[in-house]
Amino acid sequence: MAMSTEGAPRFLCDAMLGGLARWLRAAGYDTLLARRESDRELLALAAATGRHFLTCDGTIREHKAARGVALVLPQTKLDDIAELLGRHFAIDWLARAFTRCVLDNALLEAATAEQVASHPHPLPGNVLHCPACGRLYWEGSHLSRMRRRLERWQAAR
Ligand SMILES: [Zn+2]
Repeated sequence: MAMSTEGAPRFLCDAMLGGLARWLRAAGYDTLLARRESDRELLALAAATGRHFLTCDGTIREHKAARGVALVLPQTKLDDIAELLGRHFAIDWLARAFTRCVLDNALLEAATAEQVASHPHPLPGNVLHCPACGRLYWEGSHLSRMRRRLERWQAAR
């Protein structure tokens, strides 16, 4: 299930881009979300960890350290940003879909029978478990809706 993420771009989203961060994680891309760090701290973190810093705040360009690290995104709807990122980073929205927790970026693992049984409702098929927050993921209506959106983004690349 888990495909290699070696060589795949990794991201750091500024605090305003929480929605985008969740979708990049849904597509399996290693993505951190900023909290209260300063621009200077975020640029240093991105550079030190080999991440692209994504922001809608053009003032980031005033920092020398932003060069080659920060990508300023237009303030537009998520579908348009996904199309832009898909082209810019050659993102494959489907190859690693649903291998990471959308909430905390942790790599998902196969759920144990005990974890599946602990859920209040019976779960179908392959169930994945987040070792960080304990959330379970399975192919239900929510994931199917998300997958359809990822498929649209993949088609728009
Ligand atoms: Zn989690």
